[in-house]
Formats: sequence, C-alpha cells, structure tokens
Amino acid sequence: MGRCIYCGRCEEVCPTGAITLSPDFELSVMNKQDLFEQADYKLAACHRCGKYFAPVKEIEYAGALLRQSDLPEVVKTNAGALLNICPECKRKNDVSKMVNLYQENKDVAR
Ligand code: SF4
Repeated sequence: MGRCIYCGRCEEVCPTGAITLSPDFELSVMNKQDLFEQADYKLAACHRCGKYFAPVKEIEYAGALLRQSDLPEVVKTNAGALLNICPECKRKNDVSKMVNLYQENKDVAR
C-alpha cells in the first residue's frame, strides 16, 4: 500500500472483482514496512510432472471462463483437461489434436 496512489484503476479493470478499494483513507504509519501486506496462494501441481506451476485460484478462474464459453463441449472437455498441466508438459502434449477437434466441431456448427 506504500506505492498506491488510490486512483482506483485496479478496481476498475479487475476482471474478477477481486480488487475493491476500501473507504479507509487515513493509512499513516510510523514505519513504511507496515504498509506491506502479504498474500499467500495455494499452488497447483501439474497432473503430469508434479511441478507447481500456477495458483489454484487462477486455474479455477480459467476453468470457470472455459465452462461459460460458447466453445463446443468436446473442446471445453479437452481444454479443461489441459488446465491442470504445466506449460512445459503442455508443449510436450500433442496440440495438433486439439486444433483438429476444434476445426471439426467449428465446421459442424456452421
Ligand atoms: S491501480 Fe490500484 S494499486 Fe495501483 S495506484 Fe491505483 S488504486 Fe493503487
């Protein structure tokens, strides 16, 4: 909070509503270190290699967006399975199958 100028831009653009400014405006402290806050997030482990790679909340948010999307169900299912896999393992994954499935379903939907 020592760097914040209380412009409210972060609250305005936060896509999840996670950031809200409080009505507190008198935040004077004797020690600037007292303005630091620590947030701890549980990390998710890759379902393939076990390496921690992203906050669980972030993965859950991505999953929620995916479920709300109008993508074909088969694409949602396949993409959802990839959510719990780290970027390195995803690169190893055969993404061409996903692209082909998406193209097939896109063509069927037209
Ligand atoms: S964007 Fe948010 S955190 Fe950054 S200065 Fe403005 S109110 Fe503070």
